[in-house]
Amino acid sequence: MAIQENFCPKCGGKTANEGLCNKCKVESIEWLICEPRVECVICPTCGSMKRGSIWTDVTYDRQQLIEELAFAAVSVHNDLEDPELAISTRDPTPNRTHCIIYVRGQLYGLPVQKTCELKIIWKKENCDRCSRLSGGYYESTIQVRATDRKPDAYERERVEKIAYDIEESVQEAGERLSFITRVDNTRDGVDIVVSSHNIGDTISRQIVTEMGGKITRHPKLVGERDGRKLYRITILLRLPQFRKGDVVFFKKRYYEVRGTDSGLLRVFDLSEGISNVLHDGEYRLIGNIRDAESADVTYIDNDIAGILDPVSYEIKDVKAQAWLRLAAHEKVRFLRDKEEDEIILVG
Ligand SMILES: [Zn+2]
Ligand SMILES: [Zn+2]
Repeated sequence: MAIQENFCPKCGGKTANEGLCNKCKVESIEWLICEPRVECVICPTCGSMKRGSIWTDVTYDRQQLIEELAFAAVSVHNDLEDPELAISTRDPTPNRTHCIIYVRGQLYGLPVQKTCELKIIWKKENCDRCSRLSGGYYESTIQVRATDRKPDAYERERVEKIAYDIEESVQEAGERLSFITRVDNTRDGVDIVVSSHNIGDTISRQIVTEMGGKITRHPKLVGERDGRKLYRITILLRLPQFRKGDVVFFKKRYYEVRGTDSGLLRVFDLSEGISNVLHDGEYRLIGNIRDAESADVTYIDNDIAGILDPVSYEIKDVKAQAWLRLAAHEKVRFLRDKEEDEIILVG
């Protein structure tokens, strides 16, 4: 059976097609179209990018972003097979990037290649988060205080670290508008001012989980936005009266505080070497084991040990409690009870 021969109506050449030959078909269609101009809005402060009306944090680098924007502006004909794209760019000004895009592939059995040019216009606009941040926007204030005392430097530092760690994790989870507006260290404690109720609640719960204490929330209506009532919440967080590691004097004994549970004090009895639970009572605070001094054990005589006071260089006799497992010429840590003129070994 003979193959039917056709002639191309445009160039008159032989062709196996009905109508135009492949070469004329390639010439007659626009197989590469690219938008000449693409805009990209970036926040100059934090580098977030606006897509439509939504801001998102972008983590990739500038060159990757350029390629993504440029390739998205290019469309090729559906019949193009094995398309390959390449790009060269230059920045004539800080807010313009010129791109040349090279495209090649196979079209109706013929190799084809073309280039097109496009411009990326970089626009700067403060994002939703940065404009709130610079305006000092806030929805909650966490007031960290302590019961019958002031929070110490260690607690203040710890509270701030917890807050900033939470901010980091909610930002990473995509909660763009949850951030810490500012932290104020005051005489009475620490005020953490935050931009959303959610981050305020998350931070205060985490502080209580790690450090104990109680929370009370005081919402206040401050206005309306988009038909929704707007509340500011003051979260009062009271740290427990005693911190972990505090040593207290109670009914002629010394205890190390290990934790607090709704009014109960979980303690370690520093004479018996056992854990215990104490109820409310009149405790006298001696100090915290973090501030313990270190001394040499000079001798052991049955249940008496000699301790070399590192300040006065006197040797003081103390009870060598069994749980301490003291040994001569080793170190032991202690606190001083100035009121009773006692040395309290803490291990
Ligand atoms: Zn032809
Ligand atoms: Zn920003």
